[in-house]
Amino acid sequence: MGIYSPNQQDIARRINVDCAQSNWQDWKWQLKHSVTSIDTFEDLLNIRFPATERKKLEMTLRKFPLSVTPYYLSLIDTEDYDNCPVFRQAFPAPAELEIGKCDLADPLAEDQDSPAPGITHRYPDRVLFHVSNVCSMYCRHCTRKRKVGDQDSIPGRAELEKGIAYIRNHPEVRDVLLSGGDPLMLNDEYLDWILGEIRAIDHVEVIRIGSRMPVVLPYRITDDLVAMLKKHQPLWLNTHFNHPREITTSSKTAIRKLADAGIPLGNQTVLLAGVNDCPRVIKALVHKLVANRVRPYYLYQCDLAEGLSHFRTPVGKGIEIMESLIGHTSGFSVPTYVIDAPGGGGKIPLNPNYLISLSTNKVVLRNYEGVITTYQEPDSYEADFCNRNCNECRLHLKLDDAEEYRATGIEMLLSDWNQTISLTPRNNERMERRNHE
Ligand SMILES: *Cc1c(COP(=O)(O)O)cnc(C)c1O
Repeated sequence: MGIYSPNQQDIARRINVDCAQSNWQDWKWQLKHSVTSIDTFEDLLNIRFPATERKKLEMTLRKFPLSVTPYYLSLIDTEDYDNCPVFRQAFPAPAELEIGKCDLADPLAEDQDSPAPGITHRYPDRVLFHVSNVCSMYCRHCTRKRKVGDQDSIPGRAELEKGIAYIRNHPEVRDVLLSGGDPLMLNDEYLDWILGEIRAIDHVEVIRIGSRMPVVLPYRITDDLVAMLKKHQPLWLNTHFNHPREITTSSKTAIRKLADAGIPLGNQTVLLAGVNDCPRVIKALVHKLVANRVRPYYLYQCDLAEGLSHFRTPVGKGIEIMESLIGHTSGFSVPTYVIDAPGGGGKIPLNPNYLISLSTNKVVLRNYEGVITTYQEPDSYEADFCNRNCNECRLHLKLDDAEEYRATGIEMLLSDWNQTISLTPRNNERMERRNHE
């Protein structure tokens, strides 16, 4: 008995089952009993929303549907649900219907960067592969909100084979990130097939899975699932805890199974107003994560998807949080704070400034305490001219399969071997004048 909280026992009783005897820990049972209406939400939590709010809530729901597992529902603090971080991530707010003038339906231009079904190819060496359009819980802050509930389906093999063929035909892809929806909504056998197909591609070095299951439906992490995943190493898994309250006995068990199987775990948090926009909350979260062998990976600035304006914080809040972490706590507890650039520019890291000034042989820096310090640079440093001939370089890279070295962007500007001195936006008027004269 003792493993179930009073909330869980109440909810199970209201679904007309007894926690201890029911299939509470069966993930399929949880999915079958997902809460999708406000009435059920009220009944199971024994709360009532004011009548004036009901209409607005129903309208919100028609545009952005509701779905939450009994497990995640049971984490809601019914005494103060309005301010509860779990409630805010799970339950619609009428503010979702307020579309700001800068909001975008597809803020990361994922649909435009899709060369094959399910594939988003944005970076040189890795792709995102959307293998499921379904989630066990609809996060209110979802960046793919435009699609939620739209096409609740799992793509068939023929569809996925097109994405797999794309990966096979692109030898530069060394990292494949399974995303969705939630890839762990697929059954073990289907996922095993996908992982096997990708694993069989020689140039794919790592596979990653992005899943919120350890947070919203930890019972999905069964021994069978873990045994299957283990066959496909090297496999990494990134999950999505946003608040220390989400780290429960059940989610710890799920994480422990994955870590024990040798699957490196990372966590991506979204910075959300009214949920976790506080240095102490984030610090408590990252400490709990590393204590459970999960490495904080990214802290995301909330993006410009439609319906998220009430969740957004100024960028300064993120910098303030980073300031409170860097130096103050273990380096591996500190995530990278990023803005995923609107329009598909990819993730851009942001940090407080630590470089105060520099001369030709000295750098002036400040540390986390505000101590201002200097770093004396070497008197003599002979930079090697790099002509990309790595086999003759004194640094012994000497890889048999060394690939041709190509550089893009700022890396190219910094190189010795490329003559480009500036990057100029297309449609630059000054350049257009030159070309016409
Ligand atoms: C986030 C993302 C990746 C992975 O980026 P990492 O910085 O390597 O974690 C890959 N492709 C797309 C489209 C992404 O949005």
